Amino acid sequence: MTEHPLIYDLDFETLQNTLIEWGEPAFRARQIWEGLYHSLWNQPEEFTNLPKSLRNRLAETFSFSHLTPVQTLESGDGETSKTLFQLPDSRSIETVLMRYKERRTLCISTQSGCAMGCVFCATGQMGFGRHLSSGEIVEQVVYFARQLKKIDEVVTNVVVMGMGEPFHNYDNTLKAIACLNHSEGFNLGARRFTISTVGLVPMIERFAQENHQINLAISLHAANDELRSSLLPINKKYPISVLMNAVRRYVAQTGRRVTFEWALIRDINDTPEHARELAQLLKGLLCHVNVIPLNPTQKYHGEATTRERAEIFCEILQKAGIPATIRLRRGIDIQAGCGQLATQHAQTSEG
Ligand code: SAH
Ligand code: SF4
Repeated sequence: MTEHPLIYDLDFETLQNTLIEWGEPAFRARQIWEGLYHSLWNQPEEFTNLPKSLRNRLAETFSFSHLTPVQTLESGDGETSKTLFQLPDSRSIETVLMRYKERRTLCISTQSGCAMGCVFCATGQMGFGRHLSSGEIVEQVVYFARQLKKIDEVVTNVVVMGMGEPFHNYDNTLKAIACLNHSEGFNLGARRFTISTVGLVPMIERFAQENHQINLAISLHAANDELRSSLLPINKKYPISVLMNAVRRYVAQTGRRVTFEWALIRDINDTPEHARELAQLLKGLLCHVNVIPLNPTQKYHGEATTRERAEIFCEILQKAGIPATIRLRRGIDIQAGCGQLATQHAQTSEG
């Protein structure tokens, strides 16, 4: 694999400046982005809209792909598919495509592994590998867009909920979204993106100040510090009161509804008392709660809640005036929970 910079790492202005340095007209940048993000070309020779000399120079200077698909699994119902990619340094990441009615939602990764160590998360159990570059984040979307294009479909939404903590890799994540949102490029509206964070408070504050149109989700999972710290170690650094203050400021500043994620773990955080404690915490806040039965992982012994208990949990929230939805464990048969396929792959390749 070449060590050349990935072409998707360049924002529009940088590409334009590079071309001007090369003595090319500025409009070449538009032609290249058109090829990359509309035609979805991934080989320099496909850029027939450019002079051959420029095509050659691009090929010598840039890599056009860092992602090698290693394995793809389709769920039994055909609604979810998940691809394990290998990066040039042999690390792995996963991207999931979910089909729901007209929606084609991608769940993308921002890191290989994760440093946050949440006990029930397969990626957390793996530890930290490295940050992805913005181009490696972008390429996941472009890869699936190319697959979908073959069947006349398009990516409609992107959730940053794959491997890694996006706010631990803030700059590259936001740069990737800006690139995918750029009108000369992929042109996917900012409101079509959702970033999910475990709660890195300084970055939530920065995100609020920057006033993005991107949706924000917070992985809460517990409404008291003792329980949350036992599940999400980052809570020791940013306890619930500090986190909630930052979230309240975000909502006040942006006027945007925030989503809270809650993985229901049997007997651990799925009782009516837990629901009431959560309702109390979120009272008066412009928000929505997504409850998801836990996806079992190898290194955590907690079990998923039952459908009935999930319904009771949601009803308590709704009666307290807090919108709540049960999300299905989609793709459970293909280990679509984040990090699960990569864990399995690492084990098979080690063994
Ligand atoms: N690091 C970010 C985004 C990636 S994780 C974050 O933590 O928010 C995406 C979501 O999946 C988070 O809400 C996370 O708590 C949840 N999650 C991780 N492992 C899970 C599991 N085994 N079952 C259910 N949800 C899980
Ligand atoms: Fe990292 Fe999110 Fe998994 Fe926690 S839940 S370990 S923050 S990926």
